[in-house]
Amino acid sequence: MLEQPFRARGLVLIPPDLTLPDWPERMAAAGLNVIGYHTARGPSEITEFLRTEVGQASRERFAECGLDIEYEMHAMQELLPRGLFERDPELFRMDESGTRVPEWNLCPSHASALEIVGENAVRVCEALTPTTHRYYLWSDDGKPWCQCPECRGLNDADQTLLTTNAILAALRQWDPQARVAGLVYHATLTPPTQVRPAEGVFLEFAPIERRWDRPLTDRTIEAHARALDALDAAIEIYSMDEHAQVLEYWMDASRHSGWQRPAVAVPWHPEVLAADLESYAAKGFRRVTSFGCHLDAEYLAMHGEPPVAAYGAALLGGDA
Ligand SMILES: [Zn+2]
Repeated sequence: MLEQPFRARGLVLIPPDLTLPDWPERMAAAGLNVIGYHTARGPSEITEFLRTEVGQASRERFAECGLDIEYEMHAMQELLPRGLFERDPELFRMDESGTRVPEWNLCPSHASALEIVGENAVRVCEALTPTTHRYYLWSDDGKPWCQCPECRGLNDADQTLLTTNAILAALRQWDPQARVAGLVYHATLTPPTQVRPAEGVFLEFAPIERRWDRPLTDRTIEAHARALDALDAAIEIYSMDEHAQVLEYWMDASRHSGWQRPAVAVPWHPEVLAADLESYAAKGFRRVTSFGCHLDAEYLAMHGEPPVAAYGAALLGGDA
């Protein structure tokens, strides 16, 4: 492998994980240099957390330890406030039966819906301003998109990109250096057919359906073959550059526990991690991060120290 192939080496954590003290020191000691604040609920969970003493101290300490700070989250519930439905249902998604419904995502063919999403994206990012000009405001997790007559011919990736492009345009009015993640994940593994990412939308690849006891390059596993084909298609569409990012799950106790608590110990396969990193580097990725959700005080008490040092060493090009 190349020496230190990855310029950005991260972990993505949720507020409760920061009950485990010393995350900034632990990450810095492991050679990691980006913390991603994540939430399963929406941006307001993070803004509320950062108003608490623990939250505020965490952000200050990550900065003191020299880490970049980013915020990665599903956000449409808050970018198009659901309370607007009663007044203006046309902003919202049409379901399979032809009914506008307030649940999940929006109608991305409706200009006002995109305008409201853009305005709220700026508002959210004023409170959650990354140190990297990189913004991650994803669509609702695994949820359906619009089936109105104008949207029906657009697949999930098309509808996601229409929204992502609108978020980018709005953010650039406020931060001219803004870049926004185009998340290739789950339903958006199927490439867009009609919409293309605007300049400033970067590829973020998150292969949630894969196995972690076999390298992603093992195409005998159907989910791996699908993810690899999707990645190649995505590289064609988004192009590969220094901004593209892998968002993995090697360290994600929540994913490995089926999102149940208590979390199981992270299954650790250093040879798989090494092979994955080599193939990601070969594709051109220079930024790699992993969820580390549920690596909290409870995890430490049950399982001892999570393999953060080994993960960091692998990202630096050493042995996992
Ligand atoms: Zn629509």
